[in-house]
Amino acid sequence: MKTKIVILTGAGISAESGIQTFRGADGLWEGHDVMEVASPAGWQANQELVLKFYNDRRRQLLDVKPNKAHLAITELSNHYDVNVITQNVDDLHERAGNPNVLHLHGELRKVRSVYDPSHIQHWETDLNQGDLCPYGHQLRPHIVWFGEAVPMLDRAIDIISTADFVWIIGTSMKVYPAASLIAYAPPKIEVSYIDPFPQINAELAVKNVNVIRGNAATEIPILVENCIKNLNN
Ligand code: NAD
Repeated sequence: MKTKIVILTGAGISAESGIQTFRGADGLWEGHDVMEVASPAGWQANQELVLKFYNDRRRQLLDVKPNKAHLAITELSNHYDVNVITQNVDDLHERAGNPNVLHLHGELRKVRSVYDPSHIQHWETDLNQGDLCPYGHQLRPHIVWFGEAVPMLDRAIDIISTADFVWIIGTSMKVYPAASLIAYAPPKIEVSYIDPFPQINAELAVKNVNVIRGNAATEIPILVENCIKNLNN
């Protein structure tokens, strides 16, 4: 049986593809207060603004491509049982050919009915007020906003609880419950945390952590190469 590597990724893995991370130094996400564009209250207050925000993010996907970190993970999956659990809403893991990607916080290229959350459909263009599901209800971005349940959490817990190794790449470990997932990894396994500014939260502090301070597109290909070499020795 192949060794199972579970890789938790955050906004940092896509930074070198040209997608900004979450909170800039000014505490804003692409110039917006996060509660304005990523909360049910923000949606109630100004649907047009929220739709435009995600339309801009969706359009940006056309201008960016996977970087060396995403591509190295695909190479790793040719040798190991690799499961990616991402907080990202972009599709760069899929476009790099990463198999087994679970999106904890939704996907920009999907929308869902405000009435029936199980009605999810692919969406490539702008989403506007008046775009309705087949049952006549407004469609909204398929994104998990602050304060909303994370439907994929239980599946993610199942995946990480049987990991042989965990890698955490490019996340500030601040957005919960995603940041607590590491608590469900088997207690003694080695966790590698790759980030230029790693932040060890309480759940990570009790793990056996190997911190690699650096950018994903530089560090992940090296890590992958070493793992593949180890298999051949
Ligand atoms: P975050 O912005 O809170 O943290 C980003 C982390 O990436 C930081 O620790 C930073 O040091 C690190 N980083 C920056 N450049 C890096 C690089 N080149 N290589 C490796 N790491 C780098 O992001 P988060 O923890 O993922 O939480 C943000 C939330 O916002 C998530 O829930 C996510 O859904 C959403 N978001 C997604 C995207 C995306 O899909 N690409 C982008 C922005 C925000």
